[in-house]
Amino acid sequence: MFDRLTTEQIERYSRQIMVPDLGGKAQMRLCRSRVLVIGAGGLGSPAALYLAAAGIGTLGIVDADKVELSNLQRQILHATADIGRPKVESAKATLTKLNPDVEVKTHPVRFDASNAEQIAAGFDFIVDGSDNFDTKFLVNDVAVKLGIPFSHAGIVRLQGQVMTVVPGRSACYRCLFKTPPPPEEILNCQASGILGAVAGTIGTIQATEAVKYLAGFDDGLLTDRLLVYDAKNLRFREVEVRRDPQCAACGAGAPSFI
Ligand SMILES: [Zn+2]
Repeated sequence: MFDRLTTEQIERYSRQIMVPDLGGKAQMRLCRSRVLVIGAGGLGSPAALYLAAAGIGTLGIVDADKVELSNLQRQILHATADIGRPKVESAKATLTKLNPDVEVKTHPVRFDASNAEQIAAGFDFIVDGSDNFDTKFLVNDVAVKLGIPFSHAGIVRLQGQVMTVVPGRSACYRCLFKTPPPPEEILNCQASGILGAVAGTIGTIQATEAVKYLAGFDDGLLTDRLLVYDAKNLRFREVEVRRDPQCAACGAGAPSFI
């Protein structure tokens, strides 16, 4: 565990160290932090790239898939030569090339109820870049149970939504949505399409929230409100979210989901 930045680190991170709200102490906190990114896809790619560039000490990447040609329009961790390669390997190579200071831990598995707690334990923040409701609810329930703050996000077509959850302090994803929607109501990227830059905008907001939380920002986080992005009309709006005392994940006497 280091207690000072090297000359090279001070130069690498100089443009964020000089931001008054950050500074050298915040940079050291970032360098000691551990962030888990679930999904090395459209959201996880921009999030992980900015987190690696910012000098997060350890990045965990969970993804069971291999890179496909149709991923490359938005999943900017991967390049044409990576097609067929496990996404976690391609992600690790890209992130290490960007910043060799970052330790990248790969989990080439599907994040599910059998491994979720084990994988998530020990991380300081989780970026949920998953593409399905079962995983989004699982991330919420595990993060709330373990007390790990996280960023929820969803994207489809020309729309995105994002919210930060700090367990014990703010409303959780299940306070808002209760249960996964019925299958016929679900739009996902595979079936409905997504503009790559929309994923980039939302994933970048997730990285911003992770950095803010880890740097020690006490307020200003995207908590208790869902930010909804309508790229077609280029508008952002917020939906207030209140903690539900009866919430099955974070309410009083909530049963364990896993
Ligand atoms: Zn809740």
